[in-house]
Amino acid sequence: MSIFKTLEKTDHEEVIFCHDKATGLKAIIGIHNTKLGPALGGCRILPYATEEEAITDVLRLSRGMSYKSAIAGINLGGGKSVIIADPKTQKTEALFRAFGKFVETLKGRYYTAEDVNTSVEDMDFVRMETKYVTGIDKALGGSGDPSPITAWGVFWGLKAAWERKTGRKELEGVRVSVQGIGHVGYCLCKFLHEEGAKLIVCDMNTAATERVKEEFGAHVVHVNDIYDVECDIYSPCALGATLNELTIPKLKCKVVAGAANNQLKEEVSDGSALQERGILYAPDYLINSGGVISVYNELNGITATEYSMNMAQRRIYGTTHRVFDKSEKENITPHMAANKIAEERMTMAANIQTIYTA
Ligand code: NAD
Repeated sequence: MSIFKTLEKTDHEEVIFCHDKATGLKAIIGIHNTKLGPALGGCRILPYATEEEAITDVLRLSRGMSYKSAIAGINLGGGKSVIIADPKTQKTEALFRAFGKFVETLKGRYYTAEDVNTSVEDMDFVRMETKYVTGIDKALGGSGDPSPITAWGVFWGLKAAWERKTGRKELEGVRVSVQGIGHVGYCLCKFLHEEGAKLIVCDMNTAATERVKEEFGAHVVHVNDIYDVECDIYSPCALGATLNELTIPKLKCKVVAGAANNQLKEEVSDGSALQERGILYAPDYLINSGGVISVYNELNGITATEYSMNMAQRRIYGTTHRVFDKSEKENITPHMAANKIAEERMTMAANIQTIYTA
């Protein structure tokens, strides 16, 4: 792998390799684009099989964060970090504090947050070494777990897509299948149930599915059967790349709108395959941007949940409609339309004239 060739291709600004012998820390911080503001993106901890795999992941994810913040209309750039370690055995206070020291050296060019296999508690350790960390505990003056706000944004993106597809605003009686009842999936089910939607859910964690069955009357199906379910809206809230050449032909829905990142295995071909089947796809990184909106507000000193929920609702609902307008007008997929809107905003920020003031 030629790092500089890769950076040129993906348009990255900087990659930082962090090593600390005492704690065994091996981390990579990717900074994709800081035209709109400081790079922000979570820190995930995974036992990557190779260093190349870790680099590929951090580059892909940091680029994704630039697009997410750009389309969410907030002034943040894109970054991400990965720690190469086994989360089951290697997570320690020392490891996160060592990571925090590296984040501190960037002096605010990169802000970290929780992500896959890292928690609010882990970020509290990072916070001991740097102030450039977000999504910290409410008790420490942060905005806490962003998942409910993410779910609220997904809910409004889903509503916009349903409205666009059917002309109907309300979700009463609409059948929504949800894959993954985790932090976001559970909250989304709650909002959907409150609007009268009928839920079909799956998760290998049976305690999670039993809970939504009991609380919201959800119908539970096996994880392998979720793509074959007759429904109106399919909402992927578990993993990435679940919309692919094997699953898209099976879908029996009108709309796909969910929280998971990178749902399309192939941005172009899988986006087109959905369009050809007449399934309206609400771009994942747009409708799941509620969490980053909340974190952005936290950076600006606003930690009130209602404020972020309100902002996520307005932004995501409005922009989802804007994306569909552009998609129809330019005859491109919604995902490509979202990419264009995000790129236009990054270019706009780069081109704003600097005015000298004495
Ligand atoms: P989570 O880990 O709390 O929940 C994921 C759930 O999916 C778990 O219950 C897990 O058992 C289940 N799952 C895993 N594989 C599955 C499969 N094959 N079939 C069915 N269920 C499966 O994660 P989360 O915080 O709820 O996030 C869900 C998705 O949304 C992730 O892709 C995440 O990257 C994305 N996302 C989350 C946030 C946030 O604020 N938490 C923000 C933006 C995007």
